[in-house]
Amino acid sequence: MTLQDLQVRTLGEARFDSPLAEYVADRATNAYYVAEDDRVLVDDTITLLQRRGDITLAEVPSYEPGGPRRKLFFDPATTKVGIVTCGGLCPGLNDVIRALVLELFEHYGVTDIIGFRNGYAGLVPGAAPDPIELTPSFVKTIAERGGTVLGSSRGNQDVGVMVDNLVARGVDILFVIGGDGSMRGAHAIAEEVTHRGLEIGVVGVPKTIDNDIPLIGTSFGFQTAYAKAAESIKAARVEVEAAINGVGVVKVMGRHAGFVACYSALANHDADFVLIPEVPFTLEGENGLLAQLRKRVRERGSAVIVLAEGAGQDLIPASRRTDASGNQILGHFSGFLRAQIARDFRNRDEPLTLRHFDPGYIIRSVPADPADSVYCTRLAQAAVHAAMAGRTDMVVGRPRHRFAHLPIQEVTKRSQRVNPDGDLWLSVMESTAQPITMR
Ligand code: ATP
Ligand code: MG
Repeated sequence: MTLQDLQVRTLGEARFDSPLAEYVADRATNAYYVAEDDRVLVDDTITLLQRRGDITLAEVPSYEPGGPRRKLFFDPATTKVGIVTCGGLCPGLNDVIRALVLELFEHYGVTDIIGFRNGYAGLVPGAAPDPIELTPSFVKTIAERGGTVLGSSRGNQDVGVMVDNLVARGVDILFVIGGDGSMRGAHAIAEEVTHRGLEIGVVGVPKTIDNDIPLIGTSFGFQTAYAKAAESIKAARVEVEAAINGVGVVKVMGRHAGFVACYSALANHDADFVLIPEVPFTLEGENGLLAQLRKRVRERGSAVIVLAEGAGQDLIPASRRTDASGNQILGHFSGFLRAQIARDFRNRDEPLTLRHFDPGYIIRSVPADPADSVYCTRLAQAAVHAAMAGRTDMVVGRPRHRFAHLPIQEVTKRSQRVNPDGDLWLSVMESTAQPITMR
C-alpha cells in the first residue's frame, strides 16, 4: 500500500467557512480543526516502517485524518443530503443514521436531509417506497432499536438511474452505510458522478458484522455482535455441562472471516474448539476434529464447538446458489458436522447429547451496546466533516485508533481475515487448548 493508493478524492476547492468556527471559538487555539496537510502514519512500529526499505519521509504511506475542516466545499445553507443503508443488518445502523442527521442539522445547519428506503432500490424511482425526510426529532430515539429505520435490500440497481435520481432530487451528498458490496456500489456511483462532471459527494460508513473490511480498524457493531454471540456460547456451556456427554455446536457469523467466532470464544473461555474459515481442519483421522472431540468429552464430560458459518466449506459439496446481489450462498456445514458427530458417537456406542445454537439473526438485530453507540456516533461525525469539506469516493474508518479517510477502492480490493499465524488465533489456541492443527 503506497502513499498514492491512499489519496482521497475531493470535489474541489473548499471555499466556505465552516459554521463550526463559532462552535469552537471559545477555544484558545483552533487546534480542533484538522490541518489539510496533516497525515496519520500507516506504520506504527519501527519494524513495519523498516520493511518498506529505503523510502523518504515524503513517501511514507499515511492516511488523511478525519475531523472538522476550517473550510467547506459545500455551503451548508443550500446543501441537500441523502442517506441509504444497504446489505445485511448489523448493530449500530440506526446510531449512524442518527449521528449523521444530528451532526448535519445541529452543527452544520444542513436541514434538507432525506433517507432513501430499502437500500439502493430506494434510489431507483418506483423500486421502493419514496424517501423520507430525516429530522432531529425523527432520529432522536431510533437507536434504541436494532435494524435500520430506512430498511435495506440486496440486488443490483442501475447506477445511471441512481445518479439520474440524485440529480433530479438535487442531492449534493450521499452517505452510504453498508458492506463491501454497498461500498462497491458507492464507488460506482462516485465514478458515474465524475464521468458526468457533477459535484455530488459520496461518502461511506462501512458496515460489517464479520469485521472483514480491511484498513478501517474494528467495524462498528462488531463488539456488540461478539458480546451477543458470547451469551449463546455461555448458554451452550451450561446446557452441555448438565447433560451426559454433552456437545454444543454454536454457529456464529463469519462467512469468510472468523473474527466473531474468535472474540466471542475468548470472551468467556467457554469454548473447547473454535472453527473458522481461515484455518482448515479435517473430521476423520487421529488429529481430526471427531477424535479430538471424543477425547475432550472423555476428559471433561462435555464440549462446546464455536463454528463460524464459513468454516469447513471444503468438507462439503460447494453450493452454486447466490443471493440477489450475486454473493455465494454457503453450504450447510453445521448440519453436516452435527450428523458426523452423532454418527461417530453412535458407532462407538457412546452416549451423546447434542445441542445446536444458532444466534445469527439475534446477533444482527440487537441495538448497539454503549461502546458501539459511541463509535457509530464518532464515525458518522467524521463522515459528515469529510463530506462537507468536499471529500468523495471514500469511507471513514479508525485504523490505529485514529479516525481517517480511506479511498473506497482501498477497502474493497481485498477482505480482512484472521491471520492463522497471528496473535489473535494464538490467543484462541491458548484459551481453548484445542490442537494447533486438526488435520
Ligand atoms: P453484507 O456483506 O453485510 O451483506 P453488502 O453491502 O456487501 O453487505 P450486498 O448485498 O453484497 O451487501 O450489496 C449491497 C448492494 O450493493 C446491493 O444492492 C448490490 O447490488 C450493490 N452492489 C454490489 N456491488 C456493486 C457494484 N459493483 N456496483 C453497483 N452496485 C453494487
Ligand atoms: Mg458483503
